[in-house]
Order: sequence, then structure tokens, then C-alpha cells
Amino acid sequence: MDTGLSGRRALVCAASKGLGRACAMALAREGVAVTITARTAEALEKTAAEIRAETGVAVTAVAGDITTEAGRAAALAACPDPDILVNNAGGPPPGDFRDWDRDAWLRALDANMLTPIFLIKSVVDGMIARKFGRIVNITSASVKSPIPNIGLSNGARAGLTGFVGGLARQVARHNVAINNLLPGPFATDRLAITMASAAKASGRTVEQEIAERAKAAPAGRVGDPAEFGAACAFLCSAHSGFIVGQNLVLDGGAFNATMG
Ligand code: NAP
Repeated sequence: MDTGLSGRRALVCAASKGLGRACAMALAREGVAVTITARTAEALEKTAAEIRAETGVAVTAVAGDITTEAGRAAALAACPDPDILVNNAGGPPPGDFRDWDRDAWLRALDANMLTPIFLIKSVVDGMIARKFGRIVNITSASVKSPIPNIGLSNGARAGLTGFVGGLARQVARHNVAINNLLPGPFATDRLAITMASAAKASGRTVEQEIAERAKAAPAGRVGDPAEFGAACAFLCSAHSGFIVGQNLVLDGGAFNATMG
């Protein structure tokens, strides 16, 4: 399938590793010029070089913390009029809700709710004017099926999901499609961190925890980030303007519901 994306521009946040990187790579393979961000410049430049080498598209790397105003301003200065925005940032730490004070909650809300909202606000009117826009927010399967030890994530991402559900319907008539991708367990560094927390609580090893998660999914495995990137590229494609305000779970079937 021709995604119709060749020549488009994308801003992909938090993309030196893991799911963000996979989205940037998948878009670049479709001929999209990508601007990628992450805090650690060295890893980011390495990823930019890998994407360039594999796809031949223009890749701009902007080092910075996307959850800060300065980080967002730098990303938008490098890519002021994206056709595609992929919102992503690191997930909040797992833990016990008794330990989370107001500052912990504000950090989670900043990273996983307000940062994507402010980035959308910055780019959506340009998309409307140009009659093409695709916004994908990387959230989590925990939005539909909350995971007890990541309450900061469950809460902040639910807030983003509510806002986006309304906004997606306000902009859809302009061929601007906003959707959320909800990862279950994917083989990234983040999975190792959340599984380490689960292992501490259960007394099992991290490997045992990951094997348990793999067994819990009908697919019998954890996800490959490349599969996530491919789903993102499809949601950004020229064919996806009628997919509006959806929450697509990619979890190998672990979330068990006829509809939902
Ligand atoms: P990952 O492999 O740890 O990669 C995170 C990426 O984001 C890195 O490139 C990191 O680079 C960058 N990053 C983190 N914080 C940032 C910030 N404040 N500003 C700019 N860049 C930042 O994580 P992942 O597995 O891809 O996860 C991506 C998102 O999906 C997270 O929100 C995670 O909670 C969520 N999620 C993941 C899974 C899973 O199984 N993998 C499941 C559910 C939800 P720097 O550290 O250099 O900034």
C-alpha cells in the first residue's frame, strides 16, 4: 500500500529509543522527513544517523526535554509546521500511591497530559489551514485496563485521552485526524523498568515477569517495536482521515473485550 506520505514532515517526540524511534523509522521509510527529540544528545544523534542511513530522508535531531517549555520550543523551531505529530515522552515511575506527593503528580501530568496538549495546540491550526494533519499520541494499554503500580500513568494518560476525544471531533472535518496508540508490553528499555518494579513486588526475576506478561497475551509474546511503528505510519497515512479519536490497543489481545 502506498501510504501517500512521501514528502510530508513529522515531529516525533522522545524518539531516540523504543516506540518513538520505531515510529520515526516507519515514517521515514514512507518518505517522511522526520524531526526527532530526546534528552540525551548522543543517543539521539546515533538514531538520527541510523534512520538517515536506512531511508535517505532528512532527519533533524533536537536534543531537549520535551516536557519543558524550552524543549517544546526547540522542537517546534526545528519543525514549525509538521504534517504529522507523534506525541511521546517517558512514562512516570511506578510505585505506591502513598509516596506520590503533589510534585510527583504535577510531573506526571506535565509529561503525559499537558506536553502533548500544548504541542497539539501549537501545530493543529496549521494542519487545519493546510487541510492535512495526523496526530498520534502514544499512551498506554493502561488507559483501558489500569495497571495498579503505575497509577501516575493511569491518571495522567486518562486525562489526555479525554481531552483528545473531544478535540479530535472538532478538527476532523479539516482532514486532521487525532488518534491514540495504546501499547501493551513491547520489548523496550521501559518494559525492563516496569518489570523490575513488578519483580521487586513479586519476588520473581525480571525475565520471569516478562515471560508472565508474554503468556498473558493470546499472541503469547511481547510486541516488537517495529510492529508499533507500522501501526503509527498507517494511522498517519493519507488513507486514515476517517479514523477519528480512536484508542487502538496493541497488546497481542491481552485486553479482553468484544468492544471497548
Ligand atoms: P523507552 O524505550 O524507555 O524510550 C523512551 C524514549 O523517550 C527515549 O528515546 C528517551 O530518550 C525519550 N524520552 C524520555 N523522556 C523524555 C523527555 N522528557 N523528553 C524527551 N525525550 C524523552 O520507552 P518506550 O518503551 O518506547 O515507551 C514510550 C512510551 O510508551 C512511554 O511513555 C511508556 O510509558 C509508554 N509505554 C510503553 C510500554 C512498553 O511496553 N514499552 C507499555 C505501555 C506504555 P532520553 O532518555 O534520552 O530522553
